[in-house]
Amino acid sequence: MKIRTLMEGRRPFLSLEFFPPKAREQWPGFFAKAELLARLSPLFASVTYGAGGGTQDNTRDVATRMRRQLGLPTMAHLTCVGASRDRVARFVDGLLADGVDNVLALRGDAPAAALPDASSDFAHASDLVEFLARGWPELGLAVACYPEAHPESPTVEQDLAWTRRKLDAGADFGVTQLFFDVRRYQDFAARLGRLGAAKPLIPGVLPLLSMQSLHRILSLCGASIPVALYLELQEAQQQGGPAAVRARGVDIARRQMRELLALGAPGIHLYTLNNADACLEILAGVPELAGTAS
Ligand SMILES: Cc1cc2nc3c(=O)[nH]c(=O)nc-3n(C[C@H](O)[C@H](O)[C@H](O)COP(=O)(O)OP(=O)(O)OC[C@H]3O[C@@H](n4cnc5c(N)ncnc54)[C@H](O)[C@@H]3O)c2cc1C
Repeated sequence: MKIRTLMEGRRPFLSLEFFPPKAREQWPGFFAKAELLARLSPLFASVTYGAGGGTQDNTRDVATRMRRQLGLPTMAHLTCVGASRDRVARFVDGLLADGVDNVLALRGDAPAAALPDASSDFAHASDLVEFLARGWPELGLAVACYPEAHPESPTVEQDLAWTRRKLDAGADFGVTQLFFDVRRYQDFAARLGRLGAAKPLIPGVLPLLSMQSLHRILSLCGASIPVALYLELQEAQQQGGPAAVRARGVDIARRQMRELLALGAPGIHLYTLNNADACLEILAGVPELAGTAS
């Protein structure tokens, strides 16, 4: 079933993002954690995809097992950079055959070294959305969006215009990049709304649980952090070290979720980083999202 349909019956909702562990030996441990999180009754789980890498079968296999073993509606991420129409078609046919009928349609980032069989069938995520919407009308489609604008966008206005275009190309909803200032989401949703885009936008929340991960995340995705939040984490570090930073990070994630819901977000997309313990702890403090957690 399309996630769009599931969304209509439940507000607010939780969705959970996982990445497939590269080594198969890690899969039993991974699925044990996913099973714990499945008890929260998320509306859906999403599984990331390695652009241009060799991990794409893992995405399909993990998404299928989540669907079949854990009973979770599942959305597979799919990037189109360097991919041919044939390869995308085979991947999507495989997903549908396995009962995974939702895709997050992405461009992805080209790997540093060009792949020998790279194709240029798709330039942007909007091309992939159009291709999928035309060829597989039964497939639910989502796209990525960026409350702080995608780093390649020349201006915020241009970013908003391209975001609207990919939503209009056939996507059911958007999932946002992580961000730490909830007002960014409010502003982004309002500006897209003024452009006439009326699709649901699920804010992505990433818990900050250590100073190292904070620095790594900020350098990787270009998100900005409000000074007050940074100082809060730094103070925790000085007063109680890593354990205090983790506890403060749990608090901050709960606060962000509650504020986003109060601003009208339909639900929360939690970047789990495959860390079940932290996610369960966070969601225990946001009972309106935690489904049937015991
Ligand atoms: C929720 C989420 C999940 C993600 N999951 C994955 C994953 O599983 N695997 C992975 O490899 N990456 C993932 N990414 C990262 C993503 O692949 C990168 O951010 C990538 O750089 C852009 O992908 P996109 O789909 O947003 O691209 P696009 O929508 O194509 O946008 C890329 C840039 O091009 C501009 N643009 C868009 N359309 C046009 C157009 N028609 N003409 C000119 N310019 C245009 C945009 O404004 C933007 O600056 C994820 C990102 C998010 C937010």
